Amino acid sequence: MLTSAQIQARIRQLASVLKQECFTESERPLLVCTLKGAAPFFHDLCLALQQLSQSYDLEFVRVSSYHGTSSTGTVSSSDGSELIATPLHNRTVILCEDIVDTGTTLEWLVPQLHAKGAASVHVCTLLDKRLPEEKKKYTAAYTGFSIPNHFIVGYGLDYNEWYRDTSDIFVLGKTGIIACDRHYEKLKEELS
Ligand code: 5GP
Ligand code: MG
Repeated sequence: MLTSAQIQARIRQLASVLKQECFTESERPLLVCTLKGAAPFFHDLCLALQQLSQSYDLEFVRVSSYHGTSSTGTVSSSDGSELIATPLHNRTVILCEDIVDTGTTLEWLVPQLHAKGAASVHVCTLLDKRLPEEKKKYTAAYTGFSIPNHFIVGYGLDYNEWYRDTSDIFVLGKTGIIACDRHYEKLKEELS
């Protein structure tokens, strides 16, 4: 669906827009990565901000709302620990997401960051899935690419933990699902 070159070029543009629109001259914004899917995007966005001599602090949250290829409709903070360790009081927060689908994750997460005292929370997502308006619970302020409603993998995005390790982004087809499912079946057989 998207090549590495397309992704990297768009990330450089996003970094430049964020610097212009979200930060004051002397500010160190807090960049927050939603693990695990957004990790490659987060890393490359940080590098692009470095190129623009923009300083920042880093934080990570770990949330999940997907099982297999569909949204469960609920969000969980995966390890049950405190959502975020850094104090957010008066901070400008840039929340970096891999993909906004129904918006369930962000509808849950953004108010929590505000409740912890953030002065502002700007959501920057690499991908936004085109869904009918009434199905979107949250829309990000900054989006890399608006994409059709397919289940996609690669560049951090997984199907049952597979395919995170590619630099391009793909639509997951039947062959991809079967290859991954076979791998797990084999693993199960070996363990039993
Ligand atoms: P939402 O809460 O907006 O429905 O879904 C957001 C989260 O679900 C994303 O951060 C991502 O982890 C996962 N997700 C949504 N759509 C896809 C997809 O097409 N592929 C993959 N691998 N994950 C997705
Ligand atoms: Mg995510």
